[in-house]
Amino acid sequence: MLVDYHVHGMGHGEGSQTLENLSRYLDFAREQGIEEIGFAEHNWYLDQLDFSVFPRLRKVFPEIEVRVGLEIDFRPETAANLAQKLTSLPFDYLIGSVHEIGDWMFDHPDYKDQYAHWDIDELYETYFQLVARMVDSGLYDIVGHLDLIKVFGYRPRQCIKDLVNSLLHRIAKAGMVVEVNTGGLYKPVGEIYPQETILAECFRLNIPVTLGSDAHRAEDVGRDLMRAKALLRKLGYRKLAAFYRRKIYLIDL
Ligand code: ZN
Ligand code: FE
Ligand code: FE
Ligand code: ZN
Repeated sequence: MLVDYHVHGMGHGEGSQTLENLSRYLDFAREQGIEEIGFAEHNWYLDQLDFSVFPRLRKVFPEIEVRVGLEIDFRPETAANLAQKLTSLPFDYLIGSVHEIGDWMFDHPDYKDQYAHWDIDELYETYFQLVARMVDSGLYDIVGHLDLIKVFGYRPRQCIKDLVNSLLHRIAKAGMVVEVNTGGLYKPVGEIYPQETILAECFRLNIPVTLGSDAHRAEDVGRDLMRAKALLRKLGYRKLAAFYRRKIYLIDL
């Protein structure tokens, strides 16, 4: 089976949650052989979400499961408040993502020059500490693009194995799922998130995984997920995690 659990139907505000727009995403999903699609808009658009579009979408595409998630831009100061707001909404899953260190959006090309102000080893440590706080908050189901800090190809000099392993133990303890996000293949780093050695360690620790393209346009739905699937099978995975109303279930990979 193939799922795409990281899809932005609204992009960065260019798209809208209309039947017409989301149907285009489902057309591409069908073409890619995707059996379950999860829309996970950025939480910046929370107030614009219209849950009424999904039952209509399911009627037009009865052969594809449609799930509704949210990608939360984790900020330690506001996380609890936001989570409170989400409890009354019918989400199937929440993706916790770290895109910011302080007020620096480190994955945004416009702010790339800020890397020059950092010692890259310290930057990696700071980033993974934030991801650990996100995990420890217990508020989310899926760890989004786990090693996003590599996005522009800045690599640590030190080995990050210990840093990553301590994070993965927390993820296992929290019962969270790690997403294999193919969006990184189209960023300067040109690599899946997280890198293969990290995924191998996830498998060793029995951490469930799911798949996401991080598509911000309909034509990118399902992009390279067959490749991600092959990688997971090579590492030993035979199941994928999926969610319904914040409850996990496993499907064959
Ligand atoms: Zn985005
Ligand atoms: Fe993200
Ligand atoms: Fe995303
Ligand atoms: Zn993302």
